[in-house]
Parts: sequence; structure tokens; C-alpha cells
Amino acid sequence: MNEANSDLIVMKFGGSCFKDVESLSQTTSIVKDYLESAKLIVVTSAFKGITDKLIDFYDKSCSDGDECKVIINEIEDFHLKFINKNIDKKKPDYQETLDFLDTNINELTQLGRVVRLLRPSLDIQDLIMSYGEKLSTYIVSKYLNSIGLKAKFISSDEIILTDDNFGRALPLLDETEELVQERVTPLIKSNNCDLVCVTGFYGSTKDKKITTLGRGGTDLTAAIMAYSLTPNFKSKVIYWKDVQGFLDADPRISNKASLLKYISYLEAKELAFFGSKVLHPLCLDVNEKRNIPSEIRPFNDPKAAEYTTITKEAQKGDKIIKAITSIERISMVTIESGTMISLPGTAAKLFNLLGDNNINIKFISQSSSENNITFGIDLEDSMRVSFLLRNSDWFGKQWFSIKIDNDISLIAVIGAGMLHTPGIAGKVFTTLGNNDINVRAIAQGSSELNITIIVQRKDCKDAVNVLYDAFID
Ligand code: ASP
Ligand code: MG
Repeated sequence: MNEANSDLIVMKFGGSCFKDVESLSQTTSIVKDYLESAKLIVVTSAFKGITDKLIDFYDKSCSDGDECKVIINEIEDFHLKFINKNIDKKKPDYQETLDFLDTNINELTQLGRVVRLLRPSLDIQDLIMSYGEKLSTYIVSKYLNSIGLKAKFISSDEIILTDDNFGRALPLLDETEELVQERVTPLIKSNNCDLVCVTGFYGSTKDKKITTLGRGGTDLTAAIMAYSLTPNFKSKVIYWKDVQGFLDADPRISNKASLLKYISYLEAKELAFFGSKVLHPLCLDVNEKRNIPSEIRPFNDPKAAEYTTITKEAQKGDKIIKAITSIERISMVTIESGTMISLPGTAAKLFNLLGDNNINIKFISQSSSENNITFGIDLEDSMRVSFLLRNSDWFGKQWFSIKIDNDISLIAVIGAGMLHTPGIAGKVFTTLGNNDINVRAIAQGSSELNITIIVQRKDCKDAVNVLYDAFID
């Protein structure tokens, strides 16, 4: 293979790589191929749909026991089929895997009872969700072992330390690095190990409570592994996905959308934040910190010549604007007051309130008269934000007027090149104006890597397409 320039490759296989019992053969062929030239860390998500089932199991456990049994049986069956189809019954790995499944299903059943008896709590929810990755990764590691590869299994709560923000925990990178180097480096160096299989998605707090890293968090696990091992190995990350890579627009909106072959970390972060669901945004931060190259490659076509490479620097001679992304469904909130000037701290109160309630803010803009603040949120959060504001001691008072518009889309024009190129904003607004598209609000991140434009939802598609034609095509 072509990978001689890295001696360690961290590979992430997402849930969509394990959508049925046959899919393990594809994973195996990829793993074998890359093992010819590098040691591997294989980080896996739960099998497809299992995390959702576990969340459902937790929710139902809070209220009623009978439906839980059905869900647990489905989870057990799905894994059992995987084991029976893939692992040779004559190998010791087979019985070991069945035993592991049995133990873990029993534990889950017990946990369901605990939830019913005690009150629901976020830490138990995280613990329950972690079983998806624990089972999938163990099964994959045992399967690889059964076909003659020397695979070691590590549960990530033993090596990845996080804060205690259950449901969306952040890794403690220094402590994690130490643990990973202590536990994983000797394995990689040993002749008794070809690859280490690490569970994605979860870690643990210092007092050993399981935490999850947020939905899609297995990407982040892979990035953390590469980060921690980079001082010892020349490493890179490959994210195997059910898409070809990052695209320069949403293909449902622009039929010209095409693959971005090279992109910088900064640009990829903007893309991940503004609409593209290809990668967990935080994993890009982690890779960037140590300048670890990464690739997004299509799982179904592993040798495809076209994929996305993400590196620190943008490529020379690149386009100024790389992508026009969009989030079709957002809400725009405007808080207005004639008195905001004389009420310093209003913005701080606003964003603390939203932050404390886990509301993700997509953009902010404030006019220089200072008597209104406009910000964008996910449409799904609109009711909650309305409730929070109208019931808060501060904003619920009559001198604020709160307007929420739910028919809004956000468009982001993204490219590192605009940093040094004057006139981009001018061209954006001329293009939109010439096409009779009304701009409701604008914002530019201080990174100057994007210009964010807010339009009525009915104009979203047209706006993306005229900007695409003006800047990319
Ligand atoms: N299994 C988790 C999820 O579905 C984590 C991941 O897939 O990355 O969100
Ligand atoms: Mg997933």
C-alpha cells in the first residue's frame, strides 16, 4: 500500500460501516490492506442503530419495564447475529465473545432496573449508551483475532479522561495522553500485537464514571488517540465514512456540489460547524493542535482515488472560496430594547442563560446602536429559547421585546483565501442583490474564514446557487 509515510494509522469506522452482518468483511479487507505498511489503531462506533436503541432503552426504563425487554432482546439479537455469522465456532474467540455479550446484556438489564428505582440521571444515561461501542469493538477485535490478526481490545474509559459534562464531555488531553502512552504505546511496539481496537464515543471522569463525548463522538476518540500517540509515532487519521469526503455545497441544494480534495483544518472546522455533518467539529481541533494529517475516505470504495485530505495549511493555488454551505432550518431571535445602552451586561446575561441551557448559537450580530442583539439557533431549540427568555427575570421584563422568526436559513461562504483578499463581502452582497435576494442579517467570524448570511428560507436554495456560480463554478 501507499502508506509508508506514516508508521501508525488511527482508523475510525462509524456505525454506518456496520449496518449488517456482512459488513465486517469490508472492514477486514481495509484493515489487512493497511496493516502491510503500518501499525493500526482501530476505533469503532456502535453497530448501526444501536446507540438510538440504547437511548430508547434508557427512556423507557424511566417509565415502564415491559417495553425495555423488547429493546434489550433486539440489541442482543443483533449482536448475536454478528457473532454467529462472522466468528468461527471452533475458535476460542467464539465462546469468549458469547460470554462477553451475555455479561453485558445482563448488566444492561440490571441498569434498566436501577433507572426505574432511582431517578433518571445523565450519568446513568451515558453509562447505558457506552454499551454500544463496548460490544461492537469487542466483537470486531475478537473477530480479527479469530482470523489470525493479533488484535488487542481496550475499553476507552481506561485511557480517555474527560470532564464530568455528561452527554457532551470534553477530553482532558494531558491526562489522557499520559494514560494512552502508558497503556497503548507498549502494545503497538510489541510483536504480539498488530492492531489495537479502541471503543469510540466514551471516556471516564477522574472518579471513574463513564461519560460520552456527544453524538458522533467516535470521530473525536480517533483524533484523541492520534493526538496522544503522535509524540511516539508518525501518525495520521483515516475516517471511513458513508460519503466520499467533504463537499463544497449541500448536494440536495446545489446539483453542482463536488468533492473537496484538499482542505485546511480551519476551513474544515467552519464547514463542520455550518451544516456539514461529515465530522465531529471538535476532532478537527484536536488533530490541528498537533498538526496530524487526516483523510476522509469512502468506506464502500476504499481504494477510490478521490477523497478529502485535511492538513494544516491550505494548498497553494487554491480557490479563495472553498465552499458555500447552508443550514436550512434555523431560527433567528432578536432582542430589542430602547435601554440596552444603559444596561451593560445584557449580552453577558443573554449568552450565559443560553449557554447554561446548552443552546448552541449559530451566529450573533449586534447593531452599533446597541439596542438590539440578533442571534441564530437551531430551529429545534426555538420553543425552548422562547420559554427561557420570556420566563427569565431579566428578559421577561416588559422593556425588552423578543422576536423569533422560524423561517430562516443560514448560508456560510467559506474559504481561508478571503483572509488576504479584499472585496469578497462586496461581491457576496452584490451577487445576492442582483438576484433579488433579501439579506436579513450578516455576521463574520473573527477568523475571517467565513461570511455568514441570513435569508428567508424560501430564498435559501437560490442564494446558495447564485453564490456557488459566482465564487466556485
Ligand atoms: N455511537 C455514537 C452515536 O451514534 C457515537 C458515534 O457513532 O460516533 O452517536
Ligand atoms: Mg454513529
